[in-house]
Amino acid sequence: MGIVFGPINSRRFGKSLGIDLSPMGKQCNFDCLYCELEPSKVISRYSDIIAVDTILEELTRVLKEHRDISVVTVTANGEPTLYPHLGELIDGINRVKGRSRSLILSNSSTISDRNIQDILARFDTVKLSLDCATARCLKRLDRAENSIDIEDIKRGIVEFSEKFKNELILEILFVKGINDSDIEISKLNSFLETLDGVTRVDIGSIDRPPAYGVEGIDYQSLREISLKFGSKVPINITSRVYSRNMDSSNYSREDILDTIRKRPLTQEDIDILFNETSKAIFQDMVGSYIDRVSRGSYTFFTIKGGK
Ligand code: SF4
Repeated sequence: MGIVFGPINSRRFGKSLGIDLSPMGKQCNFDCLYCELEPSKVISRYSDIIAVDTILEELTRVLKEHRDISVVTVTANGEPTLYPHLGELIDGINRVKGRSRSLILSNSSTISDRNIQDILARFDTVKLSLDCATARCLKRLDRAENSIDIEDIKRGIVEFSEKFKNELILEILFVKGINDSDIEISKLNSFLETLDGVTRVDIGSIDRPPAYGVEGIDYQSLREISLKFGSKVPINITSRVYSRNMDSSNYSREDILDTIRKRPLTQEDIDILFNETSKAIFQDMVGSYIDRVSRGSYTFFTIKGGK
């Protein structure tokens, strides 16, 4: 049935094995415009449910074949937190995964449920999507099932971020003309500024064919958006597809410091933005004017002393 897939090599996590909790077809309480799966009717509970033992047997077998797995990722053709035995499953994964880390990717729809919070707290890394801060945007972009309320989602993320001690990543996917307006960004920013305990916020755009006729935004636009966030949480731009066409530029020493002052950069940003001469100038300043700060599996470059 293809419940366990991979391994795939991820630049960020190393060798990753995926667990698909809905391999028979899409089961989701969202119908996002940008979904890479076919459009479908939203559901509030799984009807096709795989037994925990079946998943763990397959995982154990694959882990024996691949002894160097760095992360086991729980995901689905749909929303994995709707899987009714998730608590039992994560306890089983934690028993068999050895030194690999556990990761779950959720659309945040159930995060206000205390039981779900307790289950997610047993993962090493939790990645929660949050594309919108307003009800209108949630309805338009994520096309959430009717009972899902954006204020519940935000409250749930606050509660979870206060109790979760491991790596918590938020992800915002921007779609042209839908959630890239100044007003939506400002509302997202106001919300992010209330959070403590978030490791980083990934921002990206569509890089696979979407379910509906919507368009992504390019790396340059994502970068401009990133500068509108005054959040204390490091923003990481994840869309690389469009960045391949970008020419790197010449940055003087002052330009480099100004750029980093506006927003901490990752090594990937530096590879995209700076030409070879600028990279050499940048390297000279690491340690004296620029600091390296680790956030989970990412290193950010910031101004030394925060100035
Ligand atoms: S939450 Fe994920 S699986 Fe569900 S519709 Fe959105 S993109 Fe697709």
